[in-house]
Amino acid sequence: MTNSRSVFQPSTQSELVQFVADNATNAKRHLLPIGGGTACRDANSDDVIEVRLDGLNRVIDYPARDMTITVEAGIRIAELNRILATENQRLPIDIPQADQATLGGVIATNWSGLRRFGCGTMRDYVIGISAIDATGRRFSAGGRVVKNVAGYDLCKLLVGSNGELAIITQVTLKLRPLPETSALVGLGFDSPRQIESLLARLMSSATRPMAIEVLNPHAKLNSLAEAQSKRFLLCIGYEGAEREVRWQVETLIAEAQPFEPRFSKSLIGSDAEPVWNGLTDFVLIGESPAARSPLTFKASLPPSRTIEFMQLATEAGISAKAHAGNGVVLGHLPGSVTTAIQAEAVLKSLCELSSSCSGGLSVLRCPHDWPIAPQAGGITAGREWSERIRQQLDPLGLFRR
Ligand SMILES: Cc1cc2nc3c(=O)[nH]c(=O)nc-3n(C[C@H](O)[C@H](O)[C@H](O)COP(=O)(O)OP(=O)(O)OC[C@H]3O[C@@H](n4cnc5c(N)ncnc54)[C@H](O)[C@@H]3O)c2cc1C
Repeated sequence: MTNSRSVFQPSTQSELVQFVADNATNAKRHLLPIGGGTACRDANSDDVIEVRLDGLNRVIDYPARDMTITVEAGIRIAELNRILATENQRLPIDIPQADQATLGGVIATNWSGLRRFGCGTMRDYVIGISAIDATGRRFSAGGRVVKNVAGYDLCKLLVGSNGELAIITQVTLKLRPLPETSALVGLGFDSPRQIESLLARLMSSATRPMAIEVLNPHAKLNSLAEAQSKRFLLCIGYEGAEREVRWQVETLIAEAQPFEPRFSKSLIGSDAEPVWNGLTDFVLIGESPAARSPLTFKASLPPSRTIEFMQLATEAGISAKAHAGNGVVLGHLPGSVTTAIQAEAVLKSLCELSSSCSGGLSVLRCPHDWPIAPQAGGITAGREWSERIRQQLDPLGLFRR
């Protein structure tokens, strides 16, 4: 069943169960679940079996009137979106490289994008899940209806489990209707403090933003280049019925006037698409030839400390973008950083700031030979508890950590 590169690619869930059970009894080799491989960096390592899940991509049930769908976890996000669009529905999570990334990978990484502010994360959409533990046991939680609470915690446990607890094979999702239109307002400011004051004002805004993004002057977004020109940029997104969206855009621009933006631009419908896409794909910028960066990180901290973090990142020459309403920041170190020691020095104050407010910083990408801890700071509570769950699902320690 394995080829010389130790790749196993099942085409049915039963085949996968059989393979994992055999491995646990006989070879006991390490297993690395892989969906689209967009976030996997060590897939070529020799001592693991890559379990490629993109062959498990069937739609099991799509009762569109119930606004739920049950699919196998290897389905590509672009394909899932295409199927949902036929019923005017969607999963409102922004995923980069959607034609490659799989649903299982999104759930395992708990990746979320700019609509997180208005629409939440995968934890809000997974209502049922089936998975296989390291011994080959199949287990399920939740169900196919929205009002189902049995096993709910196991659904949440596997969201963000990074392929370290079980292989996710099948998922039931709660869906949302596709909005009639969307809009983005870009506001340029000389000082991040002006943005901080406007963010506070937004808490009592008459509008209901879907996305609140802040880019620092090093973070270039082609579609809004003229608005940026060495400024901090605040991007606010809206979705809904056409009239309602237009009203929200006008209201926001009026509410922002007292904060004296140096630039303001609003884009509606298809004009806004390239900006939504640019903001979604920001994590890829570090790998583009034009802005190659040695290291990409993600930090989490209370939303009230985000602007302070963005200021520190700017001083360090980092290209950074924040989901300012949620306190999540993505950053690319500048190309002038060429060694792990330099990278650690640049990240030091950012790690200190995030851990001082119970947040954390994790490295998403850096050269393989840099001895940098993937997690710096972060919340340690609950580790003992999660170790106990690991013992139950993976007693032989076969899933790669
Ligand atoms: C560390 C990290 C780095 C990232 N880097 C990039 C990037 O460079 N470019 C980009 O476009 N996006 C990146 N992302 C975002 C990523 O695209 C999304 O998280 C995406 O949804 C991953 O989907 P995938 O199918 O490609 O997952 P993969 O890359 O195949 O896997 C990601 C993780 O999920 C696990 N996994 C995958 N499928 C399953 C399954 N069925 N059951 C259990 N575990 C599973 C893998 O073991 C791995 O730990 C990154 C995310 C993270 C957390």
